[in-house]
Amino acid sequence: MTDHLETRAILAGRPGGDADLAPVMHPSTTFELESVDEGRAMATSTGSTTFYSRYGNPSVAAFESAVADLEGAEAARAFASGMGAMAAVVLGLCSTGDHIVTQNRLYAGTQMLFSAVCPRFGIEVTSVDGADPDAWEAAIRPGKTMLCVAETPANPRLELVDLERFGAIAGPMCVVDSTFATPLAQRPLEHGVDLVVHSATKAMSGHNDASLGVVVGSRELLDWVWGFAVLQGANASPFDAVNGLRGLRTLGVRLTRQSATADRLAHELLGHGEVSEVLYPGLPSFPQAELAKRQMDLCGGLLTIELEGGLEAGRRFVESTRIARLAPSLGGPETLVTHPASTTHVSLFPEEQVAAGIGPGTVRISVGLEHPDDLVADILAALDACRN
Ligand SMILES: *Cc1c(COP(=O)(O)O)cnc(C)c1O
Repeated sequence: MTDHLETRAILAGRPGGDADLAPVMHPSTTFELESVDEGRAMATSTGSTTFYSRYGNPSVAAFESAVADLEGAEAARAFASGMGAMAAVVLGLCSTGDHIVTQNRLYAGTQMLFSAVCPRFGIEVTSVDGADPDAWEAAIRPGKTMLCVAETPANPRLELVDLERFGAIAGPMCVVDSTFATPLAQRPLEHGVDLVVHSATKAMSGHNDASLGVVVGSRELLDWVWGFAVLQGANASPFDAVNGLRGLRTLGVRLTRQSATADRLAHELLGHGEVSEVLYPGLPSFPQAELAKRQMDLCGGLLTIELEGGLEAGRRFVESTRIARLAPSLGGPETLVTHPASTTHVSLFPEEQVAAGIGPGTVRISVGLEHPDDLVADILAALDACRN
C-alpha cells in the first residue's frame, strides 16, 4: 500500500538515515575528495551532492528528493527562486529558432521571460487561451515547437488548464507551473506532463522565509536541466532548502486549512453588494468548477474578487484590512491582499490590464492560517470601509 501524500511529506527527504528529525543544514560550499578519481567522477557526472555546492548540496538534495517523492517523479533540481527554475527550463531546453506555446494568463515574471528575454535569443513564443484545450494543439508548429508551458491555476483569475488534455499533447515537452496547487492538490506528471515547476517560495515553504524554486520530472530531462543549471548558477541555498523541507512537513495541514477558509470566504463574498465577481475553483459558479473537481484534490488558498467600486475601491480595500496584509506572494501563514491595477500592473494600459485578466477592482487574496471567523470579519469590514 502506498502511503498518503501527507504521510510521504513527513517521511520523504531523509537521506542517509540521519538520527536528526529536523532537516540538517550543510552550509559547506566544498567537500573533501577521497581521491582524484572520485573528483573526476563527480565533476563529469550529473547530480553530485558532495563536490561543490553549485553542482549540488546535501541539504538541497534532501529537499529535492522530498519534492520528487510527492510529485511521483524520478528526479528534481532546486533553484534559488521559482524564476531561476523557469529560466533554467526555458533557456536550458530551447535554442535559437525554437518555438514555445504558452498561455496569455501567467505569473508576471514568466510572462516577461517570454516577451522580453526569449525574443532576444531568437526563441519565438505564441500565447494562447490556456483554458481552451484545442488552442494549445492548434498553435504547435511540428518540428519547431520545443515547449508548451502552462500555469494552472493561473494568475490572477485562477483559470485552469485541463491537465489530461495538456499532458496528451504529442511532440513538444509539456511543462506545468503548479505553484498555486502544490503536489498536495494536483500532480501533473500523473497526467503525462513532462516537467513540473514550482515557486517553492510560496505554499511549499509556506512561512515567507525561503526563496526557492524546483523542477521535477524524469531523470533524463532533469539531467539536461542540471547541465544548464550548473552554469546558470541559480542554485538553491542550503538555508532556504532547509526551510523548504521544514515547510513540506506541514504542507498537508496548512493547505487543507487554507482551502477550507478560502472556500468559506468565497461563499461569504458571493452576492455581497460591493463584490461583482468571486473566483474560486471550489465554487459551483466557477467557470471550470467541474474541471477543478476532476484534477484538484484541494482548491488552495487563493481567491480573486472584483470590486464593484473599481480602482478607488480596490485601493481603499487593501489599505483597510486589519488582519490581511498588503503584500505580494502567497501561501504563507498571513493572509495577503494585492490590488494589481494599482501596484504590480500599474504601468500597463487599461486594455493591456484587461488582456492580463486584471480589472480595475481586481483584488487577489491569499488566505492564511488565521481563525476563519476573524478573517471573514476583517474582509467584510474592509468591504464596508471601501464603500465610503
Ligand atoms: C511567485 C511565482 C513564480 C516566481 O517564483 P519566485 O520564487 O518569486 O521566483 C512563478 N510562478 C508563479 C505561479 C508564482 O506565483
